Amino acid sequence: LSVIDDLTSELARLPGIGRKTALRLTYHLLKRPPEEIKRLARALEGVADRVHACSRCGNLTENDPCAFCASPRRDASLICVVEEAADIGAIERTGEYRGLYHVLGGRLSPLEGIGPDELNVAALLTRVRTVEQVSQDSALAHAIARVTEVIIATNPSVEGEATATFLQRQLQPLGVRITRLARGIPVGGDLEYVDGVTLAQALSGRREI
Ligand SMILES: [Zn+2]
Repeated sequence: LSVIDDLTSELARLPGIGRKTALRLTYHLLKRPPEEIKRLARALEGVADRVHACSRCGNLTENDPCAFCASPRRDASLICVVEEAADIGAIERTGEYRGLYHVLGGRLSPLEGIGPDELNVAALLTRVRTVEQVSQDSALAHAIARVTEVIIATNPSVEGEATATFLQRQLQPLGVRITRLARGIPVGGDLEYVDGVTLAQALSGRREI
């Protein structure tokens, strides 16, 4: 196999990139200056060497603990559970959340052979069980503060819902408040065209105005 074929096969493994797009990207790269290709290679090498999961929350980070877990400005009594590290960015962009996160690393999917053991669940239960202690180190005090609420922010898909139900059952005996992101009609949406499940969820999640 030539190095060109090699690159094409590697690119074709990326999500959403078929053989044809991989080939187009390969020939695009081949036309760029060698220095630019090497910069891309160095960036890939950098993430491969330095990025890993935060030992506390599972977020992808260069530092352990990650910036959220290490920040004394975050509210450690709140944990928002997401499927993937990439979901954190979406929640951060709202500017509405000041708590910590927990990344599952996927969602329950029996068809793909993903069960509870494949997800970062045990660490979540440990975090919730951890009782408040007095710490001399104020920077670490938040890390051992008691968790009072877990917000389950898995995707509103069949697997995401199954994962949320599973987590709820695991967390309930721990006496923590468990909430789920409200779902409903998208902004700019038209009631007439909203699907039945979404409308039913919007109705059951209605609130006082
Ligand atoms: Zn973390």
